[in-house]
Amino acid sequence: MKLVWSRRYDVDLFGHVFPVEKYRLVRQEVLARGIAAEEDLVEAEPATAEDLLLVHTPEYIDDLLNLRTTPRTMRSEMALTREIVDAYIATAGGSIETGRRALEDGVCVHIGGGYHHAFPDHAEGFCYLNDVAKAVAKLKHDGEVDRVCVIDCDLHQGNGTAFFFARDPDVFTFSMHQENNYPLKQRSDFDIGLPDGADDTIYLRELEAIGDILDHHVPDMVLYLAGADPYLEDRLGGLAVTKPGLRKRDEFVFNQCSVRKIPVAVVFAGGYALDVKDVVDIHIATILEAGRMARLTQQPPQRGR
Ligand SMILES: [Zn+2]
Repeated sequence: MKLVWSRRYDVDLFGHVFPVEKYRLVRQEVLARGIAAEEDLVEAEPATAEDLLLVHTPEYIDDLLNLRTTPRTMRSEMALTREIVDAYIATAGGSIETGRRALEDGVCVHIGGGYHHAFPDHAEGFCYLNDVAKAVAKLKHDGEVDRVCVIDCDLHQGNGTAFFFARDPDVFTFSMHQENNYPLKQRSDFDIGLPDGADDTIYLRELEAIGDILDHHVPDMVLYLAGADPYLEDRLGGLAVTKPGLRKRDEFVFNQCSVRKIPVAVVFAGGYALDVKDVVDIHIATILEAGRMARLTQQPPQRGR
């Protein structure tokens, strides 16, 4: 199994709560623990201007590339520097690469990505570019997939992604999130708004909905946002899912896809525990579960229906 990353992700966010160092730490840990070798780590090519325009408006991309603070860019809650914008462009390329590799190998993990709050014409949350929408749109555009299911298990609703694909019957958006939290909700194809304090039992029970969704939508690929912020010690979240609970979540998602021979592209999304080590642990567990799926997937995935 390959892991996609980029050295461009490790940027200075000027004290922002997003623990951008988690990408470097996860990469170090997978190498140190022998979970992956150097040759398994694929450095992503940045997305092209053409790719960016597949999902974002020319006006917004023009503001972003020229670092202009306008109503389109200023809703990001992030600084607007060349280095940061380059990190988002690299991330968009990384998620496209992760999708391609998932189609080839059955599963691939992006040590990055999941910026699901960006909209076609503006930034939002911590997100300038929606790499999730971009990966799906690009693979569809290139004819590599017809139907995709986005399984978004970040604590926050995937509002940008839901908006992007609201009128696309080939892309099914599923989001399971804390209801009483950021953002202003859009309508996904299937939303589960969890109550405050939802624990492992509630979380894993509600997640079972994805089995029927995969049976009905029959996607060529799943794009899975394995957010670390449902964790009970998350600073921005109000759910109470434990580390073993999150690992069971990952295992369940991979099993559901594996039995149906659906390739899975994984992106990390959020995670804001006080100790970044907890965030790293949760992402590492996702990689280990993905690796287990890779070993289970003995034969190449079936393409199409
Ligand atoms: Zn989040």
